[in-house]
Amino acid sequence: MGDAVSDEFDVVVVGAGPAGSAAALAARRLGADVLLLDRAEFPRDKACGDGIAAHALDVLVELGVPDAVAGYLPLPALRLVGPAGGAVARALPRPAYTVPRAVFDARLVAAAVAAGVRLRRHTVRRVEARADRVVLDGELAARAVVGADGAGSVVRRALGHRVNPDRHLALAIRGYAPALPGPPEQLIVTSAARWPAYAWSFPIGDGRANVGYGEVLRGEPLTRAHLVDRLAALLPGTDPAAVADLRAHHLPLSTHRPPPGRGRVVLAGDALSLINPFTGEGIFYALLSGALAGAAAAGAPEHAARRYAEALRRRLGVHLRHSSLAAWLARRRRVVDAAVVAARRDDRVYRTVVELGLGDGRLDVRTLRMIGIGLSARDRPPRG
Ligand SMILES: Cc1cc2nc3c(=O)[nH]c(=O)nc-3n(C[C@H](O)[C@H](O)[C@H](O)COP(=O)(O)OP(=O)(O)OC[C@H]3O[C@@H](n4cnc5c(N)ncnc54)[C@H](O)[C@@H]3O)c2cc1C
Repeated sequence: MGDAVSDEFDVVVVGAGPAGSAAALAARRLGADVLLLDRAEFPRDKACGDGIAAHALDVLVELGVPDAVAGYLPLPALRLVGPAGGAVARALPRPAYTVPRAVFDARLVAAAVAAGVRLRRHTVRRVEARADRVVLDGELAARAVVGADGAGSVVRRALGHRVNPDRHLALAIRGYAPALPGPPEQLIVTSAARWPAYAWSFPIGDGRANVGYGEVLRGEPLTRAHLVDRLAALLPGTDPAAVADLRAHHLPLSTHRPPPGRGRVVLAGDALSLINPFTGEGIFYALLSGALAGAAAAGAPEHAARRYAEALRRRLGVHLRHSSLAAWLARRRRVVDAAVVAARRDDRVYRTVVELGLGDGRLDVRTLRMIGIGLSARDRPPRG
């Protein structure tokens, strides 16, 4: 090809969200010369609930970033309201945090830069995989590339994979509103109408909460007005007129994922459709997959995709199978109602549900049995 490659790196990471920063940090820790690209200048906003689970912080500590949520309020509990209105509120095994992405992502980018990663503002449009390297936009070359460019990933498209189809893709809107009165806890209100769908309110600790609403797509376009109406209906204490900075974005769910890469090119985070189908959580997966992708890209560039696929399977394979099964079961609303009742009765069930939705947990027999008992009790005709 007649292009003039001006810069060469061991690893180029496309996208500097959580997946990209984690990838850059992991590759840098192996001594690689890393370039981190983003089309936006940081700090930048990203439509998100800003909910950071404890599992995400574990990955960051391993990457040498212990202070990503410093100064923010720990949220010790989660309240979950089922589609029929029943609720469970219990202590989380470990607190969660709400950190606006304009802050959180900029902190991770700063950590990567401090570790020696080079950051450049650049929108990638063309990805060309050659035998010995990957060339981006005809001007940047790398021994391996990590595509961490989010839900509309250009790198994923270059590998020949389309965006997720309906039913495996959600759309959600978020904004910032005065926090609801009550204890500092994450609130998730699932919706019987348009199931699977839910709203959330995550207090930040400064008098505001991140509020939002999302639903799984089913072949019909969703308007902003519809999303805001549903948010207001599910969070009655929230005045839609008082919600600032409303912004919507797609969520590619982990129930439909492309292969994790090919040759020297790998995908991480939303670019790999790694969003929990239960909760819409993607930051933990983004950080974990990014870290594994960066390590594979730096450690064995010519075999990056194979090494990465193995690492991802070892670390998340069983969990992803279990969360897909749980999401399939939860397509029936009454399963979720039964799970809420079971979690209210039994802290171990609650923890299983939380680990499945926020981390890398698995379904277990006790949880399935208690949900089954709840379902059969509902189906039994009343006595007398
Ligand atoms: C409304 C909403 C609420 C959510 N709530 C939560 C929540 O509370 N907790 C949670 O864990 N997850 C939540 N998620 C999911 C979470 O936001 C994502 O899973 C997470 O941002 C994925 O990180 P990422 O690094 O893969 O992608 P992103 O964060 O999207 O980062 C991708 C980066 O790539 C850059 N980029 C894109 N294209 C290019 C290009 N061509 N060239 C260069 N740069 C490019 C972008 O500018 C961006 O900085 C929510 C999602 C939505 C939409």
